[in-house]
Amino acid sequence: MHLERRILITGGAGFIGSFLCERLLESGANVICADNFFTGTRTNVAHLLNHPRFELMRHDVCFPLYVEVDEIYNMACPASPIHYQFDPVQTTKTSVHDAINMLGLAKRVKAKILQASTSEVYGDPAVHPQPEEYWGNVNPIGPRSCYDEGKRCAETLFFDYHRQHQLRIKVARIFNTYGPRMHPNDGRVVSNFIVQALKGEDITLYGDGQQTRSFCYVDDLVRGLMGLMDSPDHITGPINIGNPGEFTIRQLAEQVIDLTGSKSQLVFRPLPQDDPKQRQPNIEKAREILNWEPKVQLRDGLTKTIAYFDAMLSRPDQDKK
Ligand code: NAD
Ligand code: UDP
Repeated sequence: MHLERRILITGGAGFIGSFLCERLLESGANVICADNFFTGTRTNVAHLLNHPRFELMRHDVCFPLYVEVDEIYNMACPASPIHYQFDPVQTTKTSVHDAINMLGLAKRVKAKILQASTSEVYGDPAVHPQPEEYWGNVNPIGPRSCYDEGKRCAETLFFDYHRQHQLRIKVARIFNTYGPRMHPNDGRVVSNFIVQALKGEDITLYGDGQQTRSFCYVDDLVRGLMGLMDSPDHITGPINIGNPGEFTIRQLAEQVIDLTGSKSQLVFRPLPQDDPKQRQPNIEKAREILNWEPKVQLRDGLTKTIAYFDAMLSRPDQDKK
């Protein structure tokens, strides 16, 4: 007999997933973490392996999974452009087959299921900031499409399972999130700039560095996801979870240099194809419906993230995780 909630987290050994595992264990739940370690690592959850309510399972979500759970956080999917573009066909399969498999599981065991969707469903947005009602401006045939369209199709599947089978769904549109346990080589801007600054290497600005992003610290994000999961059943989303503080990529580089005291120089590199020019969440819905808003300022979150990478780079086994 299970008195505690049983929760499945797919992609639980990844950056965001590992924090979710931690917080949900703290809340008293039983946690099953299913991951194929494509971009996540055992090291991210090493501190949880001896926890009596934690179970780590090697599993590829493109295949069905049979477990008995009450809630599913569906986080599995490579998230950084270089990882999701490494094998684009597999990226689309991961989003779509994963959604079909996890929704099927949720239907069978009557679990509530949350999808880690993304601001990428808005593409290179023509509406700014982006509210949930905006349908987006996504190129269906470009190098980012495997991720963007895979995530859009997953949202479609979630809403069709909800309408057709009355599944309890929660769709979170996550905006750029950063923090400790990002992979140092995954090419995302925050980890790239911090690692470059700490090593005294050039800081690579793509394009003119005037494109914008809004960066959410991982603690805030995880609190938002858990709030959405715990919200009443009629709240399905999609709902934006992100920090509305908007910065140019150049401003981010300057803050990283300032906080690390690095002597690194800014250098300019070509802008990748279809790189969105601006991105900022409208979070009115999250504020009103979930009573959620981010609390961590960029400067404070960067300071914690820099401390994490600094410790990692000074370890002798420095190749990470
Ligand atoms: P991450 O790459 O660190 O985590 C993804 C995890 O999924 C990894 O542990 C990876 O091994 C696992 N995974 C990938 N393919 C799998 C498969 N076929 N089977 C099982 N596991 C698989 O990335 P993250 O930043 O922690 O992102 C987590 C989720 O949040 C992703 O779905 C991502 O699309 C979404 N998201 C993240 C951000 C962000 O800024 N970090 C923004 C929007 C959406
Ligand atoms: N970027 C950059 N230098 C880097 C890595 C990224 O200028 O070394 C830029 C990238 O072109 C984009 C922004 O930073 O405009 C955010 O990139 P990231 O890959 O982190 O996320 P996404 O583009 O998916 O929002």
